[in-house]
Amino acid sequence: MLYLSTRGHPDRKRFCEILLEGLAPDGGLYMPEHYPQVSDATLARWREVYLQQGYADLAFEILSLYIDDIPADDLRALCRKTYTAEVFGTGEIVPVRHLDDPSARSGLEPVLIEALSNGPTLAFKDMAMQLLGNLFEYELARRGETLNILGATSGDTGSAAEYAMRGKQGVRVFMTSPNGRMSPFQQAQMFSLMDENIHNIAIDGVFDDCQDIVKAVSNDLEFKRQYRIGTVNSINWARLLAQVVYYFAGYIQATQTNSQKVSFAVPSGNFGNVCAGHVARMMGLPIAKLVVATNENDVLDEFFRTGVYRVRGSADTFETSSPSMDISKASNFERFVFDLLGRDAARVADLFGPQLAKAGRFDLSGDAHFADAASRYGFVSGKSTHADRLATIRTTWEQHGMVIDTHTADGLKVALEHREPGVPMIVLETALPIKFAATIEEAIGRQPERPAKFNGIEALPKRVQVMPADVAQVKALIARVCA
Ligand SMILES: *Cc1c(COP(=O)(O)O)cnc(C)c1O
Repeated sequence: MLYLSTRGHPDRKRFCEILLEGLAPDGGLYMPEHYPQVSDATLARWREVYLQQGYADLAFEILSLYIDDIPADDLRALCRKTYTAEVFGTGEIVPVRHLDDPSARSGLEPVLIEALSNGPTLAFKDMAMQLLGNLFEYELARRGETLNILGATSGDTGSAAEYAMRGKQGVRVFMTSPNGRMSPFQQAQMFSLMDENIHNIAIDGVFDDCQDIVKAVSNDLEFKRQYRIGTVNSINWARLLAQVVYYFAGYIQATQTNSQKVSFAVPSGNFGNVCAGHVARMMGLPIAKLVVATNENDVLDEFFRTGVYRVRGSADTFETSSPSMDISKASNFERFVFDLLGRDAARVADLFGPQLAKAGRFDLSGDAHFADAASRYGFVSGKSTHADRLATIRTTWEQHGMVIDTHTADGLKVALEHREPGVPMIVLETALPIKFAATIEEAIGRQPERPAKFNGIEALPKRVQVMPADVAQVKALIARVCA
């Protein structure tokens, strides 16, 4: 399998090269040259693999279609080391449960919740990041190299990356986050890590300022080479690939045979999670709809409703109670647009380069391809507000005795607007409610459960440096640490 850039760079690369590289040299995102097709027979075999052997072996089956430069035995061992019940809390890794009592159903197909939230940092980003940590350690050891990971987080990416990389040989993490904008629990999770290879940088600004810094450093090819800068942001293809697996595992748990279809509702910000759903669907997984759910930062909902993709400025990026979706542009969206436009790289390069730089928006409403987003690729969308979030959390608690987190509530709210006869709706649970305790308390008047290992973390000493949104200062810090 070879990978190409969405912006048309002539190079074709293998998996382990793009694993360590992240962004393509022309600023594009890496995509596989084609999507391997999963036949009915293969899907039937994978069903048995998941049910008999477990998630890790299913992950190996899927990953091996995209990774041909790691020997199969090694790749299988990496998957088995990553997806364990010890790390992810349950043997199913991504257990699916019914929202409704299955015996009291009303004709409509069930709504199911797939838990992606039982990893070390209690958010779905662990699903990919834990694998990435093991892949990085493996590949760096094989090459005898080191890597400095520079990342941007609005909360969950950063802690997931740090918990995946802490103590790993040959890897340092420099993680930028918007100063004071993460929940106290999220800040405590990240800043309490005392591992020497972990560096927290709190930037005075919003998430997109952090992301712009990462892009600016990555675009400085000289600096990138000298300091061996890599990224673990959701633009890394390996992360997306790891996420493809739980769409298959969710499908298998929700169905008895491959003739059934399901829909997935995905709380969305940077379009990373749901882009993996798109890949699974392109591979032939029987997905009816991919329901994109945003919060008040509705860049994606606006696109799927109108065809206009309009990035927001920091002044109109809202701080919400589902903060991991507080984005002003969706950094993985370029991948889908690449497919939507028939893989016309020149056009993608123009839209995401000069067009966005000049106008801050592009408009595909008059383009014949736009209708394909829904009709051919299954995308529908909706948005949720703070009031919707509270109501959904409250109703889910009162009617089903289940406490869901704020992001999952956004997903569920929009999921209920897109149910259709004969198709179960799987809502991806992207975090546990304890991460956003203040909003849960506002909704249901009680604190969510806290796993025992997180007792008292807010009181632990913190290791973090505060900085203005200034690329030069971040570079200087990296240079100092690496000296
Ligand atoms: C990151 C995150 C999201 C959004 O995922 P994207 O891949 O950015 O769309 C949703 N919910 C939670 C809890 C997250 O951490």
